[in-house]
Amino acid sequence: MKELHCIVPGCQWHTRHETEAEIIRRASEHLRETHGETVIRESMLETIKANIQPEKGKAA
Ligand SMILES: [Zn+2]
Repeated sequence: MKELHCIVPGCQWHTRHETEAEIIRRASEHLRETHGETVIRESMLETIKANIQPEKGKAA
């Protein structure tokens, strides 16, 4: 499992999934719904990817 905490400072949202693609999809949806980002820019995707981590408490 991988996990991602929202890239927006101060936001407590996070998600976990097996695949990076699904995490990116969920993060894009969250950014649209919660942060009002109508367009997910390439730079945002790069930031999201850079922040995806192995789930805590388990070996990577
Ligand atoms: Zn957020």
